[in-house]
Amino acid sequence: MHLSRFNRVSLGHLPTPLQPLSRLSGALGGATLWIKRDDCTGLAGGGNKTRKLEFLMGDALAQKADVIITQGAVQSNHVRQTAAAATLHNLPCYGLLEDRIGSTEDNANENGNVLLDKLFNATLIRFPAATDMNAEMEKLATQLRASGKYKNPYIIPGGGSNPIGALGYVNAAMELVQQANDAQLKIDCIVHATGSAGTQAGLVAGLCGLNAHIPLLGVSVRAEKTAQEKNVLQLAQKTATLLQLNNSIEAAHVVANSDYVGEGYGIPAKDTLEAISLLATTEGILLDPVYSAKGMAGLIDMTRKQKFAKGDNIVFIHTGGAQALPGYMHYF
Ligand SMILES: *Cc1c(COP(=O)(O)O)cnc(C)c1O
Repeated sequence: MHLSRFNRVSLGHLPTPLQPLSRLSGALGGATLWIKRDDCTGLAGGGNKTRKLEFLMGDALAQKADVIITQGAVQSNHVRQTAAAATLHNLPCYGLLEDRIGSTEDNANENGNVLLDKLFNATLIRFPAATDMNAEMEKLATQLRASGKYKNPYIIPGGGSNPIGALGYVNAAMELVQQANDAQLKIDCIVHATGSAGTQAGLVAGLCGLNAHIPLLGVSVRAEKTAQEKNVLQLAQKTATLLQLNNSIEAAHVVANSDYVGEGYGIPAKDTLEAISLLATTEGILLDPVYSAKGMAGLIDMTRKQKFAKGDNIVFIHTGGAQALPGYMHYF
């Protein structure tokens, strides 16, 4: 897979480290756990959207975009990283924020990622829960063109999850397999949090393209298992088409689990908060209450229940998000 065929800008500190979670593994007493530090991609505090934005911004610049429009939840890590990537390339950025959880806490609405969006000079527009955010982005693009303010708005979908964005996680799959081969580490399973599906879809396409034969499990932060698997499969297949892969991607390659969502998107469950404190105290690593800690809660539970064999090497991809923690301080 030759990713240099695609437009790309450099945004991340890559490769991100692959590290052992020795103290956590010791505390849980089962499989041997590792962590791929995509919380350390560097841009704006880091996170998984940085890898996707390398290809999305590359495409936006190739198309001579003069303004970026994207959307997410109020505490969106994607909007934060997009605002930073846009300002780095002298492009204004509109961030449309959907109030999915309806919190009345000032910190939830103004601190964390929202504060950072403002520092990166994004124009924020808020919408109530269940707004058709894709329609709102199109509407805004039409308005900006009609007003003569901008000629060529570039819309980045929520989470940067389309085939172009997913190339960032094809790249991550290549990077991780290379690191494992260099370290003679046999990976038995990869686990990560899955939301808008681009991360998992890119990994699935990348691992298939490499014939890596490494099982992958997405721990859902929102959708129910069947719906999530369908979203990921569709996007993985479109990504494979963009890459012109010979290997076909089948439903069997896409596995998600929705056992750790709790009450819903953006609402940390008891085991989410436990995962945050366990990783902080054993490893000095910060997780976030919306994504990575739900993924880690799944990994912790499955490890405790010996769902992986003792001695298996399990890699957790840390997708970032700790910048949302101040927005959740009322939980701690
Ligand atoms: C967006 C996000 C995810 C989910 O990635 P998707 O590609 O949307 O599935 C996971 N973790 C963090 C911290 C995120 O911001």
